[in-house]
Amino acid sequence: MTPDLLHKPIEIFTGLSLAVQSKLKIKHDGWLQDTDILASPNFEQRPDNAEIDLIVVHGISLPPGEYGGGYIQQLFTNQLDPREHEYFAEIEGLRVSAHCLIERNGHLVQFVSFNDRAWHAGASCWQGRDNCNDFSIGIELEGCDDEGYTDAQYQQLARLVISLRKQYPALTEQALCGHSDIAPGRKTDPGPCFDWNRLNTLIHS
Ligand SMILES: [Zn+2]
Repeated sequence: MTPDLLHKPIEIFTGLSLAVQSKLKIKHDGWLQDTDILASPNFEQRPDNAEIDLIVVHGISLPPGEYGGGYIQQLFTNQLDPREHEYFAEIEGLRVSAHCLIERNGHLVQFVSFNDRAWHAGASCWQGRDNCNDFSIGIELEGCDDEGYTDAQYQQLARLVISLRKQYPALTEQALCGHSDIAPGRKTDPGPCFDWNRLNTLIHS
């Protein structure tokens, strides 16, 4: 075995269920241990009485329909160059973030501590409560509404949801939704291809 192969993701050697079972650890400061961090300036403290009790799943690609350019990471850290693409010029000055991004290959990046308020939901409402950013955790999957997400993304998302529920007990089974559920008519992500049953099956495997 070449040294290179030794550093391949663990999933290749252990199969699907073991990959989900390997735990992600969340520290008390709200950051994942042993996970890549790109700290975003786009956050603030949650309101004093806010309990974290909702996970919002999103889909995003930049430019729309393209993957792997690193532009989502640049967007969430205010480093997107508007000269690189006409779409980037359209969204120049947009200040957004999510707590985490899961890339097409399953790679996980964290931008904002789970204890803080990321800027992912916008105008939104969940079960009669507005401003979902106050009480939610936003997880972006790299993808488009009209294309399925990858096995690696479902596995990583399941791992993350399992760990979040352990760390924040108010994140019940029902406290999981898509951006389109809290901003209907305005947002469509993660899109009709996102398979909620598949996610829930992995979480309970
Ligand atoms: Zn979204």
